[in-house]
Formats: sequence, structure tokens, C-alpha cells
Amino acid sequence: MTALHEYYQALELIPWEQRLQIPAPPSTDWQHLKQCVQACTACSLHQTRTQTVFGVGNTQADLMIIGEAPGFYEDKQGEPFVGRAGQLLTSMIRAIGLERNQVYIANILKCRPPENRDPLPDEVSKCTPFLNQQIELVQPKLLLAVGRIASHYLLNTKSSLESLRNKLHTYGTINIPLIVTFHPAYLLRNPADKKKAWMDLIWTQRTLRELTHGSFSSTSNRTL
Ligand code: URA
Repeated sequence: MTALHEYYQALELIPWEQRLQIPAPPSTDWQHLKQCVQACTACSLHQTRTQTVFGVGNTQADLMIIGEAPGFYEDKQGEPFVGRAGQLLTSMIRAIGLERNQVYIANILKCRPPENRDPLPDEVSKCTPFLNQQIELVQPKLLLAVGRIASHYLLNTKSSLESLRNKLHTYGTINIPLIVTFHPAYLLRNPADKKKAWMDLIWTQRTLRELTHGSFSSTSNRTL
């Protein structure tokens, strides 16, 4: 075991493993990256989209929230999480003590899959270099993955969402701490799990506070 892995173990962090990935587009700034997304025809979703849905919020946010893919309203308006699930996400952000414009919100896919079906592996691998660049540009202190699709991609796993909750993971070679919670659309269908989601959010708020005030340590692990 390497010294780094021992460090992870002491902090009860789960290291992210490097995986094969399509190289990120050579974007050096937000405007260029947005133009690359708008012009993208790498997968068939460009044929059915109304417009691309890039991302929204504070590009220097401490907290970055990552969802799945645009739905009907997002495709029409060009902004992530503006439908019913988006309203619930806004409440979830407020539960952390923040407003929407204080965080950065992006999706795994930038185009709406027809009938809101799950993203296909090929779509994910072609689109995520954009997300990877967004994360590198924002350099958030904490990532919050909402739902199975975002969690599976960011953590390179197929484990159940339940098994991924309540653990502090890390994303990428830059080791950004990452917390997993339910997707707001799932919570709309399964309101009984809102209580668990709210516990996740309280923990997220506490972890974010510790990360931004420099008091983050192994005691940051979830005790709720
Ligand atoms: N669901 C998502 O995952 N993202 C959106 O932008 C809207 C709904």
C-alpha cells in the first residue's frame, strides 16, 4: 500500500481510480468551452436537442452539484434543473444554507436524451470531457453527486446509490471530496426518502463548512 493510500485509509476516504477517458477538448476558458458544447455533434443527441444545456451558477463556487441530463424544460430553456426536480434541487441547496447562484450546477450530459431515458455509455464517454473541464475550471472544494448516473460516472463504479451514500469519496486525480445523495426526481417519486436526503444535506453543509474553514479532518466523517 502506498503512503497516499494509507493517508486515504486514515481519513476513511475512498480513492478515485484513474480510468481510460476521451481527452478533454482543448478549452482554456469558459467561453471557449461553452462554444465547444454548443457546437458538439459527437453523439446522436445533437439531432433531437432544442439546445445544449451547459451549466449555471458561480464559476468559483465551493460547492458543485452534478446531475444526470437535461429534461424537457431544461432542453427548452437551456439551463439545468429548472423543472419540478429543479425546484426541489433549489430547496435542497437552501437546506445547505446556500442559494442557487452560490453553487455551480452541471449535468453528465449536455443534451436531452429522448423521453428522458438513461444516458447511453457512448453518450456519457463523449460528453463527460466537458464536465471534467468544468470541474477543473470551478475547482470546487466539494462535489455533490445527485443520483445514480452522476455517482456512477464520477466514482467509476456501478455500486448501488444506497451503498455510496454516507461515505466521503474523492473525485479525480485532484481528489476533490465528493458526497452522494438522491436525485431530486427520484425524491419526487419516493418522498419517503426525503428524510434520508435531508440528513445527507446536513452532512454536506457541515463538510463544506469544515473544508472552507480549514478544519476538515477525519472527524468529518458522517456521524449522523
Ligand atoms: N435532471 C437532471 O439530472 N438534470 C437536469 O438538469 C434536470 C433534471
